[in-house]
Amino acid sequence: MYDPKSRCADDFINHEEILETLDYAWENRHNRQLIDQILEKAKLRKGLSHREAAVLLDCDLEDKNQEIYQLAEQIKKDFYGNRIVLFAPLYLSNYCVNGCVYCPYHAKNKHIPRKKLSQEEIRQEVIALQDMGHKRLALETGEDPVNNPIEYVLESIKTIYSIKHKNGAIRRVNVNIAATTVENYRKLKEAGIGTYILFQETYHKESYLKLHPTGPKHDYNYHTEAMDRAMEGGIDDVGCGVLFGLELYRYEFAGLLMHAEHLEAAFGVGPHTISVPRVKRADDIDPDAFDNGIDDDTFAKIVACIRIAVPYTGMIISTRESQQCRERVLHLGISQISGGSRTSVGGYVEPEPEEESSEQFEVSDRRSLDEVVNWLMGMGYVPSFCTACYREGRTGDRFMSLCKSGQIQNCCLPNALMTLKEYLMDYASPDTLEKGLALIQQQIGEIPRQRTREIVQERLAEIEKGNRDFRF
Ligand code: SF4
Ligand code: SF4
Repeated sequence: MYDPKSRCADDFINHEEILETLDYAWENRHNRQLIDQILEKAKLRKGLSHREAAVLLDCDLEDKNQEIYQLAEQIKKDFYGNRIVLFAPLYLSNYCVNGCVYCPYHAKNKHIPRKKLSQEEIRQEVIALQDMGHKRLALETGEDPVNNPIEYVLESIKTIYSIKHKNGAIRRVNVNIAATTVENYRKLKEAGIGTYILFQETYHKESYLKLHPTGPKHDYNYHTEAMDRAMEGGIDDVGCGVLFGLELYRYEFAGLLMHAEHLEAAFGVGPHTISVPRVKRADDIDPDAFDNGIDDDTFAKIVACIRIAVPYTGMIISTRESQQCRERVLHLGISQISGGSRTSVGGYVEPEPEEESSEQFEVSDRRSLDEVVNWLMGMGYVPSFCTACYREGRTGDRFMSLCKSGQIQNCCLPNALMTLKEYLMDYASPDTLEKGLALIQQQIGEIPRQRTREIVQERLAEIEKGNRDFRF
């Protein structure tokens, strides 16, 4: 029985409900009247149900599709302005006991070099990341209770937060580790993590069981109910995502939105972020082996429809995607991107020779962080290194209510400008510096409140003098 409030995965990601949703969406894909009604509701910026959003995703009326893209763009502008938050992944270990068939870290892969960073190696990696200018990390490890126990992850988080190299600091550590117990989530919360991220991979249970043939991740319900346990453990910012390409995208799209509805219904707060990765080539992984790959047009439509359906949820795209693809979807709803990423263990200190690669997937966008910052500014975006919210206790429902009332906007742009200025002072190339300073000057005028503008001006001057870490 479909029940968004239930704590059982089979109820809140109910297979029959998804099939009915897909039939409904398909039958109505050119029902102009219904599509108009849904678009009118979407304009209220309070989101859509999974059924309504599925109709927009299937819509095949060209003029309505243009409206969908325009609305997504407008919602993106209204909620996120022209800011893009930057982050980098940090791989701690690729030991893994699971058998995920789309990931080269699966346990049966005997030839990929297995690596686990020591605390000293983490230190070196973090210094390398700080020297690029990063302030926000996403930690990644395989699942292996012997090699990567929770104590290792907790110790690593402590190490990361403790490193202050020159003016550098990692101010927010998001964590992407395997589904775990309430007790372990509590420990992660106490360690001061930002968002707990866990990709569902696929919401289709039957496919899930086949794609995860061995290891603890095989347990679909345990995996799908992980966010519930994380919330119980006190983590109120969670990040969802699916790996597009494993199953039919329409199914995943509905499942993803039902997951968001479940979190909202059961805990009063939906996901903090949604990631939209696609299957990519890696050590012994050929993306063509998966039948459900999606083209760039479909990908753009998915991004636009997610933006409309959950306006308050940040959307993340990684360097899995090419510069060209990232360019295309940024304005449709993406609010966070990674830059200068290495997807191998220890890859920031020492780039690996190709034949010994421990990469989880091939990076398509190989530009440096400085190049990404420069590129974003060239397109009129404001690159932001802001990590203020969780450090100010603005998490979970507190964050969401500020977001829904639009008040968060009073913080985002000032914080973006101040953190960009820090980046420019400490790490930027001459060209990026020049462009950035001009952009900051121009954007200050966009801060609505005069008093805030004045404070920002004062703090920007302080940053020039060498002071750091101002935030609203
Ligand atoms: S996706 Fe995660 S759990 Fe699966 S094999 Fe890769 S690292 Fe292990
Ligand atoms: S102020 Fe909060 S919502 Fe805005 S960019 Fe910073 S961390 Fe994100």
